[in-house]
Amino acid sequence: MPSNDVANVEVAIIGGGIGGLTTAVALNKAGIDAHIFEQAEQYGEVGGHLTIDTAAIVVLGRWDLDAPFRALACELDGLEIRTLRSGNVLAHFPHPDLGALGVNDSSRAGSRVVHAFLRTDFLKMLTDQIPSRNLHTGHKLTALSGDGEGASARFENGLEVRASIILGADGVRSLARSMFDNSQAAPANWSVLRTLCSADLLPDDMPNDRMRFWDGWEFGDKEKQIGTHALTVPVREAKFVSIDLQFVGGDQLQDCDPWDIPVDRVMARYPETMDPLVRTMIEKRVEPITVHAIFDRPVAEKWVDRRIAILGDAAHSMRPSLGQGACQSIHDAGELAKSFAEHGLTSEALEAYADVRKPYVKMIVEAAKNQSVSPKAPVK
Ligand SMILES: Cc1cc2nc3c(=O)[nH]c(=O)nc-3n(C[C@H](O)[C@H](O)[C@H](O)COP(=O)(O)OP(=O)(O)OC[C@H]3O[C@@H](n4cnc5c(N)ncnc54)[C@H](O)[C@@H]3O)c2cc1C
Repeated sequence: MPSNDVANVEVAIIGGGIGGLTTAVALNKAGIDAHIFEQAEQYGEVGGHLTIDTAAIVVLGRWDLDAPFRALACELDGLEIRTLRSGNVLAHFPHPDLGALGVNDSSRAGSRVVHAFLRTDFLKMLTDQIPSRNLHTGHKLTALSGDGEGASARFENGLEVRASIILGADGVRSLARSMFDNSQAAPANWSVLRTLCSADLLPDDMPNDRMRFWDGWEFGDKEKQIGTHALTVPVREAKFVSIDLQFVGGDQLQDCDPWDIPVDRVMARYPETMDPLVRTMIEKRVEPITVHAIFDRPVAEKWVDRRIAILGDAAHSMRPSLGQGACQSIHDAGELAKSFAEHGLTSEALEAYADVRKPYVKMIVEAAKNQSVSPKAPVK
């Protein structure tokens, strides 16, 4: 798409993260000419793993993504809690139903089956489903405006796009959302460091088949909300272990290159008494350690302005404690596709989407807040 020009498309989606790309897949499969405009030069710039649950996988199945998804994801045998000091197992249980975590939704009874995968693999699966002429990287949104007939987006490279509908899927620090409110994304004083190691490092009696939460509160200060925890999951046919190191409070490594955190700065957070296996996994990593800061932003009260709407983290960012942000972005995509099928590319479709999704995600966001950092055993 040439710069310094005005292009016309049916739907312009700002942001090529999970919410934007899933929506583009859903709409293109429904015969709608939906285009992605992503600021980065490549998709999946921020790596690490994600987990999604059965309910989100059912939605992916509507767009024939069930088989490709299962090929790249590992089904988890529940959640195991260990101490980060000794590696002792404290508990092992199925992923609790969201109802047990405070989400009032009787349609989700029972425990959840959760799958883990690398974010980059998932985004590649999605971009493979979208016609390449509808994918535009290196397009940073700078301005948005709308009227009763459509909406326009302007990009840093000079391109202007006119569309029947514009969807802001530009993440927690969304510029699109500034059309609707004055809220700002605030740093949560919590960052997640991520890397990857070979599963060959695990001992024979520790199968790489489940999520493991290594509780490290004892290395921090619970009163001051300073903690250091690790989360490990199997990825890529369980040949690798994806590692998240959760730094709550304390040194947030803001002076470091976020794409390559020096290992000595990471290890400074852990005393010598840390479980040697976790130490080895970090030391023998096969990828650089990257850091991802967590931001808080309240759920938007307004999601729609005539022909413009927001979705995913732009509308409802949440703490990652429940592993629900990406799941809910996928549900947004499903609801938008359904709503356009019923109401066409209209503002009514956008209002109908927001009416269904907003009350539900508010419950999830509250539950994620209450869950804090340490997962709790299911409430009986
Ligand atoms: C550490 C961590 C772990 C998580 N784990 C899980 C999990 O296990 N399960 C789960 O369901 N969720 C998880 N989440 C949440 C999940 O990552 C997010 O909810 C999800 O990525 C939201 O998708 P999105 O498309 O709305 O936003 P994003 O993934 O943030 O994508 C937004 C995109 O918009 C682009 N963009 C931003 N501004 C502009 C602009 N001006 N112009 C053009 N493009 C722009 C960005 O470059 C980016 O590609 C986790 C989050 C974190 C931080």
